[in-house]
Amino acid sequence: ISLYEAKNSGKGCYVFWQREFLKGSTPERVQLESELREAIVNDELVLHFQPKVEAQSGKVYGLEALVRWNHPRLGLVYPDRFITIAEESNLIIELDRWVLNAVAIQMSHWRNLGLPLLEVSVNVSAAHVTRLGLVDLFRSLLDQYPYLAHCLEIELTETAIMADPDQATVVLNTLRSWGIKASVDDFGSGYTSLGYLKKLNANTLKIDRSFIDGITYDHSDRDVAKAIIALASSMSMDVVAEGVETQDQWEMLQSFGCKYLQGYFFSRPHCAQDIESYYLWPLQG
Ligand code: C2E
Ligand code: CA
Ligand code: CA
Ligand code: CA
Repeated sequence: ISLYEAKNSGKGCYVFWQREFLKGSTPERVQLESELREAIVNDELVLHFQPKVEAQSGKVYGLEALVRWNHPRLGLVYPDRFITIAEESNLIIELDRWVLNAVAIQMSHWRNLGLPLLEVSVNVSAAHVTRLGLVDLFRSLLDQYPYLAHCLEIELTETAIMADPDQATVVLNTLRSWGIKASVDDFGSGYTSLGYLKKLNANTLKIDRSFIDGITYDHSDRDVAKAIIALASSMSMDVVAEGVETQDQWEMLQSFGCKYLQGYFFSRPHCAQDIESYYLWPLQG
């Protein structure tokens, strides 16, 4: 039975289709890729936002935009299922463009409502950094929405940066000259040389969730987290711990001097509407 038949032969095959779909073997990937291409055009993608909080007060100071795919049959599909596929084709360029544009539209909407403009960080793919076009993309965005320059942050994974550190440095320096902040995502999981880290001149290090998980019971995780916090401080960078799920992790990170936190303990990612009513209106007072 071909995938196409399975998908179109009625209700009984739905489960089969979904299982094959999620497994990501070759024909399904092709199918997924072409569906994703249409999804971008048809606005089937949707942004969720996860709050970032100050460790000391637990107060929300920023948001991270996270993309989801509102698939007509499968429901909400998470990025781990489709980012890699997008990255292996040129689709990631379209996807990142869609995300940036959607973030700008959302922030303008909040601004028009008179809500405070929190800092919003946007994930940009590794594949995008090493190609030209990212700088142009941001330039045209800022031409259209100049007030976003000082509340946008770009998140690049450590691995993405190390794929072409010189290019990443040039890109980040240009963006920073326009007021956009830069954050090194999933830090600690790659192998950034300190020399590069210094040259990169990023604003923020985000400690990879894998270290936060074990922080309360695993000495080596704890040591890595401490070392990253110390490193950030010595380079005058901010540090965010991601994936904080318990009060114990919060207290421990705070005692290590980590100023900013993100994780399910504070909030899961939510759709824009919920972020607006749970967090933005209350901030407005
Ligand atoms: P990431 O940038 O490291 O984002 C953090 C991921 O961890 C998010 O998953 C978030 O929902 C999840 N998370 C946050 N707090 C917790 C926690 O306390 N516990 C646990 N277990 N998980 C937590 P999500 O949204 O599924 O995104 C996965 C990855 O997909 C992201 O990892 C990022 O690399 C990529 N991604 C997401 N949105 C975009 C996008 O718009 N563009 C690009 N290029 N990549 C994106
Ligand atoms: Ca991120
Ligand atoms: Ca991360
Ligand atoms: Ca990650």
